[in-house]
Amino acid sequence: MDDRNRKHQRPPFWRVAQRCCIVAGAIDTAYFFLFLTLDSPALAWINIISVAMYITAYYAYRRRKNQLGSLLIWTEVILHAAFGTILIGWDSGFYYFLLAFIPVLPVSMAANKAIVALLVLWTYFVGLHTLAIFIDPIQPISALGLFAVNTFNLTVVFGIFAYLAFYYIRTVTSAHRKLREHATTDSMTRLFNRRYMTERMQLEAQQATVNQTALSFLLLDIDYFKQINDQYGHHIGDEVLTQAADLLRAELRPNDIAARWGGEEFLIVLPESSNLQAAIVAERIRSAFEDFAWSDIIGEDVSVTISTGIHSMQHNEAISDTIKAADHALYQAKSNGRNRVELSINQMVTE
Ligand code: GH3
Ligand code: MG
Ligand code: MG
Repeated sequence: MDDRNRKHQRPPFWRVAQRCCIVAGAIDTAYFFLFLTLDSPALAWINIISVAMYITAYYAYRRRKNQLGSLLIWTEVILHAAFGTILIGWDSGFYYFLLAFIPVLPVSMAANKAIVALLVLWTYFVGLHTLAIFIDPIQPISALGLFAVNTFNLTVVFGIFAYLAFYYIRTVTSAHRKLREHATTDSMTRLFNRRYMTERMQLEAQQATVNQTALSFLLLDIDYFKQINDQYGHHIGDEVLTQAADLLRAELRPNDIAARWGGEEFLIVLPESSNLQAAIVAERIRSAFEDFAWSDIIGEDVSVTISTGIHSMQHNEAISDTIKAADHALYQAKSNGRNRVELSINQMVTE
């Protein structure tokens, strides 16, 4: 895997949860000291238990015991919300942490389990709130202290939600990008595949008609490719194909579109190019194949050449006819001796 791919990879969910254990452990350590200064020793010592739970959860995730890790985090947040509410009151805002589970549950378990878990969470949340309405805090702290705790909890939960939102959107975007790439690219040559090219050609044809610009097609086929396979093996044949794609890429402009059209056949669409300009490109590609040191790949001093048929789309021409004309020109190039470029018949050379 190259660096570019690694950069796009999102950490798996359990690794995110593992990181959260470090942050949560640090926050609860800070809380231990905060509640000691706020004269709420019971809550202070509860935070020490919380820290212990987060450390255990961290090591559980490290050993890939993901269910145990998640269970510990769940238990910690639920108990913390309960003790915080009962000891210093609902306004301490420990219940905010329960809310952070709403987006986490559906992505971390199967849908049916997540629905049950969300219902349990909702019941617990409403129950705790109701309890807080009827029961006074056991160990109340000063109004300022309560405000500080509330603001701190709110800030942390804001951070959690923002992090989750970015994590989810980046995961979805990267999955979408990979899917699109797989659907449009030929895995061996990294050129566009036939399906994508078929759609793209239609778009390019429409655009050329609207803008009244030329649109040229090159159909290229490696000469005597079967012999390469037969003499040197299929794997060498594959390497020749990969190198052929590299040569095409090197010779094309950014706007040109190249696809693997068949086994050893490539189709190139050249927007805003007359057939003369297309012929120049085709000739450049032909020389690049001729000049390339194929012995580096094949191991013997053999040449790999390519034949090309060119056709420029005519006014009101159906795409299928354009391809047929390019195919016919390719056939001509083959019958005229290969390693050459031919223009489709009945087509005037235009600048
Ligand atoms: P011509 O000059 O007339 O094009 O001769 P050719 O031998 O290139 O043409 P032919 O169509 O007879 O053979 C094409 C060969 O390409 C046959 C097929 O096995 C091979 N081929 C198609 N796809 C692949 C591939 O992905 N890898 C390899 N190694 N070979 C492939
Ligand atoms: Mg061939
Ligand atoms: Mg062929």
